Amino acid sequence: MASEASRAHPHECCGILLGEGDRITAIRPARNVHPRPATHFEIDPQALIDAHRAERGGGPKVLGYYHSHPTGLPEPSATDKASASGDGRIWAIISGDAVRLWRAENRVAVIVYSLEDALEVARMSPEVMISVSIDPTGTVEVVQSHRRQLIQTMRHFTHLKASPSADTATLLMCDAELFRLEAAIRWLDSVDARIRSGASVTSPATSPTTSPTPESTRSQELSS
Ligand SMILES: [Zn+2]
Repeated sequence: MASEASRAHPHECCGILLGEGDRITAIRPARNVHPRPATHFEIDPQALIDAHRAERGGGPKVLGYYHSHPTGLPEPSATDKASASGDGRIWAIISGDAVRLWRAENRVAVIVYSLEDALEVARMSPEVMISVSIDPTGTVEVVQSHRRQLIQTMRHFTHLKASPSADTATLLMCDAELFRLEAAIRWLDSVDARIRSGASVTSPATSPTTSPTPESTRSQELSS
């Protein structure tokens, strides 16, 4: 989806999400037939007809749609919210490398999944642990790179919270994500501190209260 978005830039790309159950297994790129494709999208009706016909014929299910925001955040615009029918279909919105999946329920966009976060969380702990067992000094670099990515994700949610279009559901979701990311960053801070002090990171953390990165530093990082 990210490569589709960069190919279509500065226009919005769009297409159909295919899969089974809640699992997206494929995307079907479609022509954006909207007369103002830099700021709007409309999936080529023929592509929709073909996808639904294929589904009826036993093919993959139409789980939702995707489109890109060439200049905005990966959150639903007012137009996106208005045109979402509340049928439970997934809306994937791409902005740069970020892809966020939303579900329209009662015309309220509820985030269902944040792809890059999920990948990050799935990857983080094992990679840090493997790195420690092979090369303790290289781990500092791995930890710093994870930390930067998490800080960047925190920025996304901080911006989203400040957006005038953010509704209560979005604000609550942002808080939850920010608390979770904050905890992950604190954990990485403690890994970093233990490696630097030469202690073993495989021993259980008994004192997570000593954070080598003061809150003030983190606030500066976030606001930059
Ligand atoms: Zn949009």
